[in-house]
Amino acid sequence: MDRTPWDDLSREEHKEPPTEILRLEDLGLPKPTKVETQDQLADLKDVLPVTAELNGLGHLTIGGCDTVDLAREFGTPVLVFCEQTFRARVRAFKSAFPEATVYYAAKAFLSRALCRLVDQEGLFMDVSTGGELHVALSADFPPERLILHGNNKLDREISRAVEAGVGRIAIDNLEEVGRVAAAATHAGVLQPVVLRVAPGVRPDTHRHIQTGHQASKFGLDMLSGAALEAARRVQVSESLILAGIHAHIGSNIFSFEPFTRTIEVLFDLASEIRSTLGLEIGEINLGGGFGIPYVAGDQPIKLNMMADLLTASVRASAHNHAMETPRMCFEPGRFLIGNAMVTLYTVGVIKRTSPVHAYVSVDGGMSDNIRPALYQAEYDALVANKVTEPRANSVTLAGMHCESGDLLATHVTVPASVSRGDIIAVPATGAYTYSMASNYNKKPRPAVVTVSGGSARVMVRAETLDDLIRLDQPL
Ligand code: PLP
Repeated sequence: MDRTPWDDLSREEHKEPPTEILRLEDLGLPKPTKVETQDQLADLKDVLPVTAELNGLGHLTIGGCDTVDLAREFGTPVLVFCEQTFRARVRAFKSAFPEATVYYAAKAFLSRALCRLVDQEGLFMDVSTGGELHVALSADFPPERLILHGNNKLDREISRAVEAGVGRIAIDNLEEVGRVAAAATHAGVLQPVVLRVAPGVRPDTHRHIQTGHQASKFGLDMLSGAALEAARRVQVSESLILAGIHAHIGSNIFSFEPFTRTIEVLFDLASEIRSTLGLEIGEINLGGGFGIPYVAGDQPIKLNMMADLLTASVRASAHNHAMETPRMCFEPGRFLIGNAMVTLYTVGVIKRTSPVHAYVSVDGGMSDNIRPALYQAEYDALVANKVTEPRANSVTLAGMHCESGDLLATHVTVPASVSRGDIIAVPATGAYTYSMASNYNKKPRPAVVTVSGGSARVMVRAETLDDLIRLDQPL
């Protein structure tokens, strides 16, 4: 397997730690006051993968693999994917909504191996670019189980999707109706579409991940009548068929209310489409957006409670509008994969900035997880090789990039003995981390390693330094 020289470096450090190791203790930071003798993983039980345990060495294990061994074998940073957690989340979601169509939102994380898992679990999949479509098709994902999204789909992306036979295309704006119709006519197919609308609902989440408000760049506006006009244009097109209506209101949402309000708005639209155009709406797609725990104490929506409420709300709305209950569809990404991954890093420099604060720097950062910088997202962290030691010092986990905002987590409590060469585990990094990864500062992107039943295999290899110059033309 290919490794980066930096990976080799970090492995060396594990074998031969430098003689002078700087510890928080040596820096004069306060001695531990809080001793956690209970199950040291209890606080983070919901944040970590379901297989997370502590072994006899006091190390964190995932999928039966010692994370310290994983860091040694595969180098750091590395994303550890717990297959069991992903499958469990998928099954829980499907059994909470047994009659719904569940699309996995590929933007959260995508690889060909993951496409296979998604397929094996019988999920559908939401792709939002020609690139995601390409990965799915190259993994032989059944095209009829794909939906293509995007607020600015390219003509070639639309054509490829139509020609491949994708099950749904989400129409995002008025002009797209004609472009999708032309591609379908050209391919000689009848293309099912759903209308993505902006229902005017603003959930309580970071503003960069609110997508369903009136002024959103996504979706057909409802107030101006664009959504109804799109339905009319689909109706008169001979190559399109209106399968349903769709709204994705945002991401990492922790309350029911924005979803139930969206259901009401979508039913009002369905009712208007029926009364104006005589078209029945067969499916209501509520997108994704279900929040997950990132740090100890996070209380996301309980899945079964949410399922009962949303199902009841759809039935009641259908009844109120004297309609057949439409099929419910969902597109969860974060909910299915967020807690299934943990990123491992190696501790490097520790810098004390005050008697009670220090930066603990690791060998990754915003290039493998941009979310803290982009959304002020919060993460927790553990010293994977010292889980049984009392966690007493609050530190900031800093990345290695040339940006002051490159901080992976603030207020993380670590043992006073934390020192160069320790392995840091940051949980809940499955969604929107690797898929948003970059080569900023010419940092090779890390490997993604699947762990299951005590064995580990590379799902996506780490980039090498040579990968960084692969696209450059010869000098
Ligand atoms: N569906 C659509 C159309 C989206 O834009 C997104 C995320 O941006 C999702 C589903 C998935 O959202 P989440 O990962 O929060 O469930």
